[in-house]
Amino acid sequence: MQNISEIPKSLLSLIGNTPLVEVTHLDTGPCRLFLKLESANPGGSIKDRPALSMIEAFERSGQLQPGGTLVEATAGNTGLGLALVAAAKGYRLILVIPDKMSREKVFHLKAMGAEVVMTRSDVGKGHPDYYQDRAAKIAAELPGAVFVNQFANPANPRAHETGTAPEIWEQMGRDVDAVVCGVGSAGTLTGISRFFAKASPQTEIILADPAGSILVDVVEGRPPGQPGSWLVEGIGEDFIPEIADFSRVSRGFAITDAQSFAAARELLKKEGILAGSSSGTLLAAALRYCREQSAAKRVVSLVPDSGNKYLSKMFNDFWMTDQGFIERPRQGDLRDLISRRHDEGAAITIGRDDTLNTAYARMKLYDVSQLPVLDGLKVVGIIDESDLLLAVFADRRHFANPVDSAMSHGIQTLSPNAPLSELLSVFDQGHVAVVVEDDRFLGLITRIDLINHLRRKVD
Ligand code: PMP
Repeated sequence: MQNISEIPKSLLSLIGNTPLVEVTHLDTGPCRLFLKLESANPGGSIKDRPALSMIEAFERSGQLQPGGTLVEATAGNTGLGLALVAAAKGYRLILVIPDKMSREKVFHLKAMGAEVVMTRSDVGKGHPDYYQDRAAKIAAELPGAVFVNQFANPANPRAHETGTAPEIWEQMGRDVDAVVCGVGSAGTLTGISRFFAKASPQTEIILADPAGSILVDVVEGRPPGQPGSWLVEGIGEDFIPEIADFSRVSRGFAITDAQSFAAARELLKKEGILAGSSSGTLLAAALRYCREQSAAKRVVSLVPDSGNKYLSKMFNDFWMTDQGFIERPRQGDLRDLISRRHDEGAAITIGRDDTLNTAYARMKLYDVSQLPVLDGLKVVGIIDESDLLLAVFADRRHFANPVDSAMSHGIQTLSPNAPLSELLSVFDQGHVAVVVEDDRFLGLITRIDLINHLRRKVD
């Protein structure tokens, strides 16, 4: 039992000392694979440690005074880690964020007390609106402010050299053959490399990199290819971070988004570990490494953040299908374009006797602007936001009226074997396409479904 005097008085003392767990339901070849759950940090990611270490370094050097301001350019886990530490220590935090970042991330950072400055995401390094340059300028002009700059800050890798790595070493009983790691700022990889260089130089350091990032080419000694794009978040770069030290990296694996997402989903299914997308990349690379070995090795990798941030993406079958990562059996007709099929129980519909209030709530819940109205399996109408508005504008009590009273009747339907060009004429009239076969409702096709379909074809 814990003595009450040992209970920490601040969340900050819960940063680090994360658990290690062995993977036992995946094929690890002759090896044993262990994962360090950095997702168990109080801010939810591997970036709590460097956030604390960088802020404490600024305090020690005197650059950061009580009540001072921290400025960083990030929408990711570093922002959350800094927000946690800044709040606990009473600092102001300004985060400069490119405007392409998801609303959830921005809301999360604001909820934690960070001030968010939005900047353009369509400009590159050297432009005054580029998020890094903008953050550096804000920090330079604001009295008492420091630019955290995780890509060049030595206290970032130090957090891992003195925390993450020695914990792994002790938890593994001082016997580790390889560590598989990703690179965002390179804090983790550089710090772990430095610790093992001294403690266990024979321990291999392996890079797991998203396909499209240039880093795998750099560690494999190839001239870097054209940087591509990837959907995995938090790792992979189109430049080499200033703090990166790849001298101890013996191998790199390029992992596609499809492989990363499949690995993260498998990890949840087989081991019950809800891990983020970069964990998928690390796991896919670690498993490849393990299966290639002929000797039994003890391999460690990481879960840098939790999968709860990715529930609407990587863990959402509709998103995975839209992106082309889940292949549905092809029918060769319009059915292939319906993202939420009614026969799979996925379409969002409403009954003709339901109230307008229910229609409104359903539109809000699923973020859709129209609902097909069903009577059994048959579509009898469609209700959209304009129908709803028209019905309730004069009298709000009409929210209690049935959908039947406000829906558009006499809708035009398409059969699954209609040509794609018919979709365009439906969209031209401002409608969505309602696909019906033998009086049975199959699903809706919207403009974005057609765009998704055309994009999948290009890929
Ligand atoms: N995974 C995730 C989800 C991250 O947010 C980060 C940090 N960008 C990393 C991995 C990589 O960590 P590092 O910055 O230490 O290279």
